[in-house]
Amino acid sequence: MSFRDILGHSKQINILKRAITGSRVAHSYLFAGPEGVGKMLVARAFAKVLNCENPPGRGEEGGDKGSDEGVDSCGACASCRAMEDGFHINLLKVEPVDGVVKIDQVRDLQNAMKYRVIEGRRVAIVDGADKLIKAASNAFLKTLEEPSAGSMIILLTSHPAELLPTVVSRCQRINFGPLPEETIRRVLVEKLAGEGLGEEDAEAFARVSGGSLARALRAAKSGEQAKKVEFLEKFLSLSPGKNDEILDVAREVSKDPDVEGKLEFLKTFYRDLVVFNEGSEGLVVAGNTAQKATGIGYRGFARLVRSFELIEEAHRNITPPRYANKQLTMEVLFLGLVDLSAPVT
Ligand SMILES: [Zn+2]
Repeated sequence: MSFRDILGHSKQINILKRAITGSRVAHSYLFAGPEGVGKMLVARAFAKVLNCENPPGRGEEGGDKGSDEGVDSCGACASCRAMEDGFHINLLKVEPVDGVVKIDQVRDLQNAMKYRVIEGRRVAIVDGADKLIKAASNAFLKTLEEPSAGSMIILLTSHPAELLPTVVSRCQRINFGPLPEETIRRVLVEKLAGEGLGEEDAEAFARVSGGSLARALRAAKSGEQAKKVEFLEKFLSLSPGKNDEILDVAREVSKDPDVEGKLEFLKTFYRDLVVFNEGSEGLVVAGNTAQKATGIGYRGFARLVRSFELIEEAHRNITPPRYANKQLTMEVLFLGLVDLSAPVT
């Protein structure tokens, strides 16, 4: 994948293009942003350009500095093809194993970076940089500050707040936002229309993706998730006072063989809203669903927390040892939730 093939993130990509034309490529970058929005794609496209044997748009030496736009990889040379396959001598990758990046992995990377770069630029990508254990982070500091000649490092994270400040301060940080719903919808249609994904479904998946293409694709490919999305859409359309509609939804949920799954999903939704409401940056969920929901009344920390608690309570009530009447419990729950969603006057 080259820069030109990547959807969205044009601001971030332009920063990288300008760094190339201005010969100001940093030795260490931190790409921070929600999971599944394409940070890895951008990192790899960047590595590809830096190593392309025949890069278009870069002009002759001392050429037009204003033509950042065309900076990209050719996609056809031996280097580009090797990058595409993921087996380029200048491409090193580290990712968490069993949820952490251990000190041994950092040591291996450092050893691999000792060898002289023969051509192009060596790019080491550390995915899940927030999973570096503390000792590994500390061992890595020197390398981040001063990678070996011809080498650079790109850290990727969806939880930048969990990185050590000493790591963050050694990198040039580039923030990635959630992808626009429309972009996700378009990709879903493009990729999955052949597998029978309709326009309306694509729209619904895009809406609940939180701006993460990876999440939308996962959801769209799983039938079970499709039902949950449909349910959330229906839930969001409810408004206080329309009790018949609310009770219909409540009854439907109470008859669902997977009531508990539905309630868990609802809880996740509210947890996401709380996070979004708090203005937390870089959290997976702060996407368009949350925005849409806050737009129609789902706001206020106390109300969101109360809603979350109502769901937990209902959940406890319908499971052993309580075995409360499911239908009644769901009716009370949904009336309560919709009531709490009323716009504050
Ligand atoms: Zn090339």
